[in-house]
Parts: sequence; structure tokens; C-alpha cells
Amino acid sequence: MPDIAIVGAGISGLHLALRLQQTGITTTVYTERSAEEVAAGRPSNLPVRFGRTRQRERDLGVAHWDQPENDTHGVNLVAPGDPGIHFFGRLDEPASGIDFRLYLPRLTADYQERGGRVEPLRPEVAEIDRISRHHDLVVVASGRAATGLFPRDPARSPYTEPQRVLTAGLFRGIAPSDPGWIHFQVTEVGEIFSTRILTADGPVHGMVVEALPGGPLEQLAAYDHAKDQSGFERTLLKLVADHAPELRERITESDFGLARAGDVVQGGITPTVRESWATLPSGRIALALGDAWVVNDPLTGQGANLGSRSAFALAALITDGPPFDEVFARRVADRLWGIAEPVVAWSNLNIGPPPEHLGEIFATATAVPRVADAFVNNFNDPAAMWDAIKSPADAATWLSKNTQGQDV
Ligand SMILES: Cc1cc2nc3c(=O)[nH]c(=O)nc-3n(C[C@H](O)[C@H](O)[C@H](O)COP(=O)(O)OP(=O)(O)OC[C@H]3O[C@@H](n4cnc5c(N)ncnc54)[C@H](O)[C@@H]3O)c2cc1C
Repeated sequence: MPDIAIVGAGISGLHLALRLQQTGITTTVYTERSAEEVAAGRPSNLPVRFGRTRQRERDLGVAHWDQPENDTHGVNLVAPGDPGIHFFGRLDEPASGIDFRLYLPRLTADYQERGGRVEPLRPEVAEIDRISRHHDLVVVASGRAATGLFPRDPARSPYTEPQRVLTAGLFRGIAPSDPGWIHFQVTEVGEIFSTRILTADGPVHGMVVEALPGGPLEQLAAYDHAKDQSGFERTLLKLVADHAPELRERITESDFGLARAGDVVQGGITPTVRESWATLPSGRIALALGDAWVVNDPLTGQGANLGSRSAFALAALITDGPPFDEVFARRVADRLWGIAEPVVAWSNLNIGPPPEHLGEIFATATAVPRVADAFVNNFNDPAAMWDAIKSPADAATWLSKNTQGQDV
């Protein structure tokens, strides 16, 4: 039986470890931070998991949050204009927002309770090389901080700097929507989205502000919330009132604030595709998985979902058996790029200048609920999304298919 090292205990590494565990393959998960440190730390993201990821969680026997109150039923998209864009698209399979400080420690515990081993590891190439000597293959799923092992692939990485400046946080004082939905506000100065996230303290709202550089939303990313938390909260509330009035209506000012001090993520993400494998000095192959391989701007909410999907695909290839050599690494690279390419293309399109044909889809979705539903369901199927939006001609075909028999 092969013996696999997995570096990183994020969703990508853990879904791979749990999947391989189901097939009886020996794995060791190496992590820089213990589950206790993750649980007690600050948030590093606010991921929404769509239906297919949730199905994989059921397949893994780790669907701990499948209660209906944790379900997110759709996306409410609002954009200014004349006429304005405003539609609610319902998801056939609900999504879910769980604080990863709950999610990852729970999945780590599942893995350990089933006999999985978790070991500490410092984030250094030499350390990865050292442990590789005890395993047949190393999968590096250590997140977006570069390890130095996988150089950026310029042909697949059109951007060299962040296209949005991010401020994300967990907040109390936002009334739940009914049914639970992701509020997605598009503005001329960036995007603001908000959704329910279950934390250790109960449900709160995650809000992500995606500021266009140079615009008024950008100031939040530089705001020292640790020094002046109430000033940060006031500034955010004012920006929400100015740019996302519908979301502002759900906020009670006297209750509004960070769920916990420090519950903020700030900075920019440069969308990057890296080389997907490397040969270590030990001669062993190291494969990159999840954000260690592909980092997207979170605007389309796909990184964690892609990490999970790629983990399952990689597990199937590993289960086919050794040798884990360069031929295997190239086979993995081809298979996983087939999954990631539409996600990368869609995410990169969304953070570029808005294409006219996307505006046409939004306008039609505002008039025809069936189009709104079809568009929103594509968040759960990035390949279908990319097919629908990749060119004006494809958008026209997709729209005509989804409006047949409807008054437009
Ligand atoms: C604000 C924000 C909102 C987002 N919203 C969404 C969303 O709605 N939907 C979605 O799908 N995605 C979303 N994402 C993206 C998503 O969070 C990431 O794509 C996903 O978490 C990546 O998972 P991962 O397991 O690959 O890496 P990570 O989650 O980064 O996990 C990597 C793990 O490896 C550990 N580690 C790091 N280096 C080492 C090392 N050298 N040795 C050992 N361990 C190491 C880390 O401590 C960490 O535990 C969002 C991201 C942000 C920032």
C-alpha cells in the first residue's frame, strides 16, 4: 500500500487525507498549526461551500453541519444602473458557511479518530524534503503562502498584482435573510458580499469587501482595527450605507460590530497558478494542491470548493497506485488542470472590466427567475458557468436555452 505525506491541514489536505483513508491508503498529515491553534486563532477566510462540496463531505462522513438552519439557499445579486439589476437565484442544493476555525479542527479530529496521524512541520522546503524520505509521495496543500517549491506559471497567471483590496470580517448585528442567502452587491467601486457563517459562538455574518484599488472601499484594508475597533466598524457601516443600501437596511447600528475583536482579514490576493509539481532533492515527487497550486480572488467563492474537488480527483489517481514518478505527476497535472481551468478563467473574468454579455445575463435574470436560478446554480458547477459566460456568443446561446417559453 502506498504511503502518502500531506503537508497542510486546510480543506484541501484534509479532504485528501480523509478520502485516501477511506481506501485504506496510509497517510500522515503534517501541519504548521495544531487544530487547537487554528480554533483559537484569527479567521483567514470566510468560505462558502457549495452543494457538490457538501456532498463530498457526506461521502467522507464529515457533514457535521447538515442541519437546515445552516443552509444558504441562494444568491441575492444587486447592482446599480438604469434599469438596476436585482435578482434572487435559488440553489437546488443549498450552500453553507461554517467558520473554518470550527470546520478544520473537527475534520482533523475525524481523521485522527479513524487512525490518521498528524505531525507538526515547519514551513520550509528542507523540512518537506526531509519528511519525503519516509513516504512514497508528498502532496503540498499548505495554502497560498509560497513554499518556494512551485514557481508561478506566467502563461496561466494573467495578473501580477491584486485586482481587489480585501477586507473581510465576522459581524454581529446583521439580521438574517429569509431564506438564508448570500447578499452580493456589485458597485462601481468594488463588490460587497455577506452571508451567514456559523462560528463557535453561534451564527454571525461574514462580510467581504472587495475594493477596486484607488476607490473609497480601499481605506478599510489599511484601517488599524486592533487600535480603533469602533472607528473601523463606523467606517465600514458608512461605506455599506453608501454602497450596499439593501444590506444596510438589515443592520441594527447599536448591535453592529465585529463578532470578536480581531475577526478581520485584510489584504490583496494576486490570482496565481503555480507549477503543479516538483522533484524534491530526495528524488520524491511533490504535488501542489489547493491554494498551494491555484489561488483565485475570492469574488466567485470557489477556492475551498476547488480544493475539495481537486483532492477527490487526486485521491482517485493515487488509488490507481504507484509509481509516483514524473509520468504520474504529469497525469495529475493534466487531470487537475481540467478541473481548475474553468474556475480560474471565470474568477479572472469577474475581476477584470465587466464584460457586456455578463450584464445581459444579469439583466435577463432580473426579468426571468428561471435565468436567475440557472445562473446561481452555476456557482456549484464552475465548468457550466464558464461555458455560459466565456464569450458573448456562448452567453447568447445559454440565455436562449434558459429563456425558451418565457416572457423576456
Ligand atoms: C476573505 C476570503 C473569502 C473566501 N471565500 C471563499 C468562498 O466563499 N468559497 C470558497 O470556496 N473559497 C473562498 N475563499 C478561498 C478559500 O478560503 C481557500 O481557497 C481555501 O481555504 C484553500 O484551502 P487550502 O486547504 O488549499 O489552503 P489553506 O486553507 O490555506 O490551508 C493550508 C493549511 O496548511 C498549513 N500550512 C501552511 N504552510 C505549511 C507548511 N509548510 N507545513 C505544514 N502546514 C502548513 C496552514 O496552517 C493551513 O492549515 C476565500 C478566501 C478569503 C481570503
